[in-house]
Amino acid sequence: MKMKKFIGAHVSVLGGVSNAVRHASNLKATAFSFFIKNHRQWKVDSLSYKAISTFQNACKHYGYMSKQILPHSSYLINLGHPTYEGIKKSREAFIDEMQRCQQLGLHLLNFHPGSHLKQISENNCLIRIADSINLALEKTCNVTAVIENTAGQGGMVGFRFEQLAEIIYRVDDKNRVGVCIDTCHAFSAGYNLCNVSSCVDTFKQFDDIIGFFYLRGLHLNNTMVSCGSRVDRHYNLFGGKIGEAVFSWIVTDHRFNEIPIILETIDSKLWLKEISWLKSLSA
Ligand SMILES: [Zn+2]
Ligand SMILES: [Zn+2]
Repeated sequence: MKMKKFIGAHVSVLGGVSNAVRHASNLKATAFSFFIKNHRQWKVDSLSYKAISTFQNACKHYGYMSKQILPHSSYLINLGHPTYEGIKKSREAFIDEMQRCQQLGLHLLNFHPGSHLKQISENNCLIRIADSINLALEKTCNVTAVIENTAGQGGMVGFRFEQLAEIIYRVDDKNRVGVCIDTCHAFSAGYNLCNVSSCVDTFKQFDDIIGFFYLRGLHLNNTMVSCGSRVDRHYNLFGGKIGEAVFSWIVTDHRFNEIPIILETIDSKLWLKEISWLKSLSA
């Protein structure tokens, strides 16, 4: 049977990137994500030849292709930073992360667009982010910059589909830019996902404003905050304010085939159960 849905979780890389592959396999996951670099540190040693080959051999051994893997960028990076020094540092770190993906043979890098830190306009911030992406795409090949929608907390941009579309519009190579939709962030930003008809409506808006062509991944998270609260607080799939309808709806809709669908839910002990539930429903 052909595998259509790629479902997994954001796993740890403690002890080396190849450990992520083992963790994913233990979860019987058909997708996974991990931090491409320590997400709280600016300076990280470059990937050794051994680390790269161990990772690639593990992927081969456990049966993961690059289209099932969605690495996540560091939280320190702000590609829309208002200051010269701030944006310079972030751009260098992002290019380094894109190059790490390329070295590992991975084709996607998921990142949070950035924040204006209340020092520049929202539009100016979006322009900076697009320029940052253009610079990174010039310095790398075969890796797509995957912008994640945000909850819109603080000065974060990218919580409206229009903002994501604006960034994409300004990126020169449209084949190497995409988006990842996080259900917790979308809901917190004010997109209702509580029942099937609101899911249909939200993703119709997504298609009209951004387009499924650009969808490169999904993050499935529930939340305990209410719709439109603009607070980023993940929760387990079951028992959150979004309910469960959105998750079963997503795994049965063919428009979400063959892209990484990643859990970032808060209790890793539930992942095995959450993944098996999603896999049992998926079509
Ligand atoms: Zn994220
Ligand atoms: Zn996310």
